[in-house]
Amino acid sequence: MRVRYPESMNISTFVFVLIFAASGPVIAQAPMNWQNAEREKLLAGVEAIPRLGSPGPVAIWGTFAFPVIAAAEGGKAEMALAAAAGFGKGKVLIFGHNSYVEAGGVSGGSAGTLLLNAITWSSGKQKPRVGLFKTDLVGYLEKHGLRAKKITGELKKSSLNDFDVVIANAQSLTDVKEGEAVRDFIKAGGGFIAGMTGWAFEQTSGGKSLASAHGLNAALMPIGIAFTDSSGFGNAQLREFKARTDLPKLMNAAEAISAISTQSKGGATLSADDLNQSASAIQLAIAAQPPGRTSLQAAVMAALGDGASGVPTPKAPLTQAKSAPERIRLGMETRLLKMASGADVKPHPSAGAFPGVAPSDAPKVMKEVGIDPNIPGWASTGLWLNAGDPLSIKVPAEMVEKGFAIRIGCHTDTLYHLESWSRAPDVSRSVPIDSATLTVASAFGGLVYVEVPGRAAGGEVMKVAFAGAVEAPFFVLGRDDDARWNNVSKKLKAPWAELACDKVVLCCPAEVAKRVANPTQLMTFWKAVIEAQDEISNQAGERRRPERIVADVQISAGYMHSGYPIMVPVSAAEEMVTFSKLKFPGWGYYHELGHNHQRGEFTFEGTGEVTNNVLGMWVYQKVLNKDPLLGHPAISPAAQKEHIQKIKRASGKFAVWKSEPFVALTTYIQLVEGFGWEAWRKYLHSFADSSFGPVPSNDDEKRDQFLVRYSKITNKNLSEFFDWWGIPVSSAAKSEVSRLDKWMPKGLH
Ligand SMILES: [Zn+2]
Repeated sequence: MRVRYPESMNISTFVFVLIFAASGPVIAQAPMNWQNAEREKLLAGVEAIPRLGSPGPVAIWGTFAFPVIAAAEGGKAEMALAAAAGFGKGKVLIFGHNSYVEAGGVSGGSAGTLLLNAITWSSGKQKPRVGLFKTDLVGYLEKHGLRAKKITGELKKSSLNDFDVVIANAQSLTDVKEGEAVRDFIKAGGGFIAGMTGWAFEQTSGGKSLASAHGLNAALMPIGIAFTDSSGFGNAQLREFKARTDLPKLMNAAEAISAISTQSKGGATLSADDLNQSASAIQLAIAAQPPGRTSLQAAVMAALGDGASGVPTPKAPLTQAKSAPERIRLGMETRLLKMASGADVKPHPSAGAFPGVAPSDAPKVMKEVGIDPNIPGWASTGLWLNAGDPLSIKVPAEMVEKGFAIRIGCHTDTLYHLESWSRAPDVSRSVPIDSATLTVASAFGGLVYVEVPGRAAGGEVMKVAFAGAVEAPFFVLGRDDDARWNNVSKKLKAPWAELACDKVVLCCPAEVAKRVANPTQLMTFWKAVIEAQDEISNQAGERRRPERIVADVQISAGYMHSGYPIMVPVSAAEEMVTFSKLKFPGWGYYHELGHNHQRGEFTFEGTGEVTNNVLGMWVYQKVLNKDPLLGHPAISPAAQKEHIQKIKRASGKFAVWKSEPFVALTTYIQLVEGFGWEAWRKYLHSFADSSFGPVPSNDDEKRDQFLVRYSKITNKNLSEFFDWWGIPVSSAAKSEVSRLDKWMPKGLH
């Protein structure tokens, strides 16, 4: 829903109101009509700005803060890529990615227009003096007639005051003093424009949390905008952000809290969309608050009034339509629990439903676990921590403040954006290791891991001691045998179990894992699956950590999805751990693993759901020794004939080809059937072979290289074959292979 504000307020009134707003309470209501007028100025001449890199959303809650550019992914709540605010006599605008304040991102595009507008808007001057902090915009701004100068050294009053506007890459603005100098500069009338990639802060800062360790973010708190560590905008389909003057006022968390409060007191009821929008805005804003800054949380709790958050289950999910207030409360609770520090955490009422608890007679153990710093990712400990129980941990000094963390729970998908919740929307947590002894607890409980940062490589196995958790069924290929699994591990009482080899770790409910009698055979099979895809895609040498596959009662998107971990539904857990002559894990698993093996050089637009399936089919061939065409009904010989007819009939062949993955897959199947798997293998390996020339860098080059490399490898001219399927390639690529003999598979003419 969009709200229209017909009136507008001129800039002097805006500034006047802001002076009063600076010290106002969080929930104060500002007249809303001024927002559209401000956005209009910032978005003049801008139709859309491109998605640069992987941006994240910024949080908004200040009385005079508002979204500037936003998107609602897949019809979900709107999130702001950029937000602006007035503060004192000055103005500020922030972007959820540093590229929006860097020459490479803004040159020659609409992101540049927005930046130039923001310079004028925030300074109130046509020719302001612009200071640049850790950005390379001097040349770009001079080209646009602006005087710009680099600020060297730290940001402080004397360096800021030389300028009307300061533009900063804020990634490293962790110093509280610098943040406060910026805030004072804005308050006194300065303009400030900054960008940073919040979700990357933990990596760029060596494991610190954005909400607690970023000086600029902390200083922005009274202004009511902030960078967040949310990775929002994750949908690769989102290529650009449309510029819209009208954006929902509920994108501002203070507005959202006010609307919820009105509803709680019997006033206007929010629609499902409005509630979703409100919860999203509030959750983003709360996540951005540093520890100890609780005014927003308190306002939310007051707005919600009394009531329970409910216990979502697959049988009785909490839906937006029926349980909106419970969802808001639960969503707030999980947000707050995520940020709770130390061991002072009570079990959440829904923890028993998911992820479950070990019975009270399960013995709590002391256990020492060896952690190999050469293997990044989550190192399993074979321990389960019950909700609310304190876990004492002792680590060697080399692990402290080096990016290591203790992770409780592997169900990392969050469900905030979904219309229905079968479990609480966020149940796992990760606590940085910042001292040699620490105590950690989780309101939901979960399997216990040590997170090893990617850069930790080198060094000996480190011993980590745990006390307070219970043992979980955990099979490791090569370490354990079937007898131990069947006689000892199956007696352990944790609700979740893991089966591991050096290439993949499977996590599923213990009751499902306990049906496995042959873990050695099962994990030998899974090891071969990963190794097959690693080898054919030429990634065996790159593998540093095992893949992970985790079953969950609800996942964030799709039936299964790729990533770390690959997430699958609990209903598919049995399939994951069943391996016999007749039954074995099927297509979906190899499809998702194929995604994790996809690389840009052999995956152009339209093949994102295709090249991974070719890698999946290879598992049927190589590991299962079965006909890959048995893997999915949409690639049966009959289905392939239909796909061929579809392309024959199509007027725009490539449009059809790239929008229907199984049609496109037929092309690849014909290549594999025509030239064998070895040609596909050589094609994937060719990208590491410089005799094939440079690696393609855009889609046109990728399609050209698909033709050229496959033709050279097979010693056949595949131009006609590509033409038949409608895959566009350049005449230069065609002429490169024109001397080879032509090739077409049977039945295509
Ligand atoms: Zn897929």
